[in-house]
Amino acid sequence: MTAAPQWLTAWEPAEGADRAAAAFRARFGAEPDGVWSAPGRVNLIGEHTDYNGGLCLPINLPHRTYVALRRTSTQSPAVVNLASAQEAATGLWTAALDDVTPGHVTGWPAYAAGVAWALARDGHAVGGFDAVVDSCVPYGAGLSSSAALECAFAVALDEAFELGLGADDAGRIELAAACIRAENEVAGAPTGGMDQSSSLRAQAGHALLLDCLDGSVRHVPFDLGSEGLALLVVDTRAEHQLADGQYAARRTACEDAATQLGVATLRELDGASLEVILARLVDAGVPAEVARRRVRHVVTEIARVTELVALLDAGRARDIGPVLDASHASLRDDYEVSCDELDLVVEVARSAGALGARMTGGGFGGSAIALVDAGRVDTVASAVAQAFADRGLTAPAFLVAQAAGAAA
Ligand code: ADP
Repeated sequence: MTAAPQWLTAWEPAEGADRAAAAFRARFGAEPDGVWSAPGRVNLIGEHTDYNGGLCLPINLPHRTYVALRRTSTQSPAVVNLASAQEAATGLWTAALDDVTPGHVTGWPAYAAGVAWALARDGHAVGGFDAVVDSCVPYGAGLSSSAALECAFAVALDEAFELGLGADDAGRIELAAACIRAENEVAGAPTGGMDQSSSLRAQAGHALLLDCLDGSVRHVPFDLGSEGLALLVVDTRAEHQLADGQYAARRTACEDAATQLGVATLRELDGASLEVILARLVDAGVPAEVARRRVRHVVTEIARVTELVALLDAGRARDIGPVLDASHASLRDDYEVSCDELDLVVEVARSAGALGARMTGGGFGGSAIALVDAGRVDTVASAVAQAFADRGLTAPAFLVAQAAGAAA
């Protein structure tokens, strides 16, 4: 029996807005002030580089999270009422805004109400509000559904409370910072800032080259469609128990290596004399041999971001495949954050004609990407779906990535 690929199609923006507004009316019996949205993202290259002061290159997905929101009061005590179509079990979540503080909110409302907390903490006049969420961003697939949720709330609160931050990049940096604090401090997830920066700052038809050392960005033209190419994203649906501890372990190994080598971040290391530098590492928290591989991944991955961007700048998107392949090998062998399902996607996609493929996101599950000729998207997806079925693995899900930013 053949396995047909399961596609995760994105809603048109009007459909997403209609869904969220209808759910708001059903929940609150009133019209929202408006509907705002923000996209999920996928990282093209630059994995596990953010916490090393490195470079990464995300693009936004056509899949967005929509928030229908009504400002209820700027008076104290302000109340927050939230509901999400993806978290129907929560029903209506209600809290006094003053009670939304780190350590006091659990579950998904931490991401949403946490943004209001972060903005208020920065001195912005955010008051009570009612909001309903609906989304087509795949959950927990490494495609940033949590950042899409935060950023949709950020743009919604910005406009509803007339904060005036969304109008320019400086304001959007502030909104992204509020989302990052919501995720780190209220939701308690120690992630870097790539996801929120991409969702709020990336432009349509461009990848976002983000320098994690200083937060600066460059918009790199990325228009695969005009070259007859497509970026296939495969959500493996695999989730491995080890993921959390392993992420922390990789971070610590990098920090320890930087300390040993006398640099603030691994970004400072010179790629040209890398083997000489690596020879200086001695056994510490991890054996020197392991530390060398971890550092080698980070340094070579940062170089691959630069290499891939140079190819895009030169209009050579068709030639980025080998750079994607090299990134995967480095993540699998040196950084050891891949897993059987991710390796399977990469291997099968390439055999079926992909020009290059790699795992994307933190690893141990989540998603992989493959650069394919537009006419071969179905062939590659079918081959991957079949390979998973043949091995009795949970069916993966597929989507095709494009690019666009957070919007009203
Ligand atoms: P991802 O890679 O998708 O960001 P995470 O595990 O970091 O994966 O975040 C997923 C969490 O974000 C969900 O468990 C939920 O708490 C929250 N979330 C994301 N999207 C929504 C939504 N539409 N409604 C409610 N909660 C959401």
